[in-house]
Amino acid sequence: MVHFDNLIDTSPPLHHFLRMQIIKTAAAMQRLAKKWQREQTRVGFVPTMGYLHDGHLSLVKRARQIVGQRGRVVVSIYVNPTQFAPHEDLSRYPRDFARDKRLCRAAGVDVIFAPDEMYSSADSGGYSTYVVEEQLSRGMEGASRPTHFRGVTTIVAKLFHIVLPEVAVFGAKDFQQAAIIQRMVRDLNFPLKIIVAPTHRESDGLAMSSRNKYLSPVQREQAIVLFEALQLAKKSVQGRAVAAPTLKLRLTKFIAERPEARLDYIEFFDPHTLQPVAQVKPGVRMALAVFFDKTRLIDNARLCCANLQVLWSAKSNRELTVLD
Ligand code: AMP
Repeated sequence: MVHFDNLIDTSPPLHHFLRMQIIKTAAAMQRLAKKWQREQTRVGFVPTMGYLHDGHLSLVKRARQIVGQRGRVVVSIYVNPTQFAPHEDLSRYPRDFARDKRLCRAAGVDVIFAPDEMYSSADSGGYSTYVVEEQLSRGMEGASRPTHFRGVTTIVAKLFHIVLPEVAVFGAKDFQQAAIIQRMVRDLNFPLKIIVAPTHRESDGLAMSSRNKYLSPVQREQAIVLFEALQLAKKSVQGRAVAAPTLKLRLTKFIAERPEARLDYIEFFDPHTLQPVAQVKPGVRMALAVFFDKTRLIDNARLCCANLQVLWSAKSNRELTVLD
């Protein structure tokens, strides 16, 4: 009997025995990316701000699945100052590069791109070029954090030019961000595909986030209210439509029962246009942001499925596909 398994080369490629590379400058990263491009090596990219958790690592896994064992997976770690407003948490954003390195190595990442600086300093003429998406970025996070998405699109565009990936993986946890990046890729003809992977949650439903570290034990307990509000909304629209203001009021009261929680916004929106809807029915998406003291948490879900985990993927650069 022929054992076909023996005929297939399943041994890891040579680069897996080499150490994971850590690259600190845009020039060095771009040189390597161009070399890979010449060699036709597939490159999957996961941009992050570090302080990694299993949500980030699920994106790494997805990138590896796409590019295969012979491809390269790059994770960028950079806390991007232009996406923080002056009063926000840039300086106290959690950082632990040693731990991030260990997690990336264990997850089979090939390169961590961890630049110290991504914007020209004043002595070299300053930095003055930004990428702005003008439609999808208006509401929700854009309304609460007016300069946020300009910072996100600018840094992600820069990272795409430096890493030159074939595919970049983002989390559905930041649904609006993923939609804006997808729009930017389409509008500016970036030659890459965006994949959006499901939100990873703690066992009680809280969406994993680097910012969860800020929560006191009491706040952590009450923080599941975001997940519970999504579930309550989902139950409320099972098989019927509900007026958005009615459901908003119900959820606002529900969240107010947690003394540590202060609601920033709840929105019900069309998953493609991100426009608010008047009637909430199955298929509509809900997003919310809730403060616990200075810590601001966000979550979102499609109000439809029994399971809140969603997989949303861009099959082409023209159309977003929701694979719930
Ligand atoms: P951040 O480091 O928070 O900027 O996130 C980097 C990437 O990880 C973004 O694409 C996020 O959407 C994604 N991400 C963050 N938290 C989660 C999570 N709980 N599940 C899946 N992806 C996530």
